[in-house]
Amino acid sequence: MKRMQRRILIIEDDAPLRELLAYELQQRSFDVTAVGRGGDGLAAAADQPPDLVILDLGLPDIDGLDVAARLHEDDVPVLILTARSDVDARVEGLYAGASDYVTKPFELRELVARIHAKMRDRGGSEELVRGVITLHVATGTVRVGSETRVLPTREADLLQLLLAHPGKVFAREELEHRLYGMESPDSNAVQVYVSRVRRTLAEMGAENAIVTLRGKGYTIP
Ligand code: CA
Repeated sequence: MKRMQRRILIIEDDAPLRELLAYELQQRSFDVTAVGRGGDGLAAAADQPPDLVILDLGLPDIDGLDVAARLHEDDVPVLILTARSDVDARVEGLYAGASDYVTKPFELRELVARIHAKMRDRGGSEELVRGVITLHVATGTVRVGSETRVLPTREADLLQLLLAHPGKVFAREELEHRLYGMESPDSNAVQVYVSRVRRTLAEMGAENAIVTLRGKGYTIP
């Protein structure tokens, strides 16, 4: 799909957490760099400006708040990971600026939602609308009425393709080819993604949004 791969820099000295975050975000199609020291983080950010930095406050070499301040100077969005006890007045002052924060321990799902929200400003404003469904393309955020959900990348890609061509019937093979590069042409991956998107939309109040035409394929009419 055309959606640009977003670059995320993780600065976290807790190696298992850093590796878990890097893995999970790569799985969600982000381009991830992960380092354990503030100095390395600033160097990486200067080398290739990230779309977002995920920053731990307690780093071995530089105070995380100083790292955040330096990143702010370069207008880089920062999502701070912090233990609740760190949330003092100084930190709150910083949060009023370009930063957002997530307290440890956190749910991965919440973190991912915050990442998408944080990137939304820079992601362009293209939206695809069909009936009650609106998809914000850059973030994969779908809206139905007052309900909002962030779709996993492959489900967002599927919905984007269908919404961009209303009424067009896509055969399973074409979806496999266009969305997933024909990695496993005999798989039922497309059916799985279609049923997940369909279920999500139904939960949000848009029943039967994706129509199956037996022997032909899928469409949003
Ligand atoms: Ca730490």
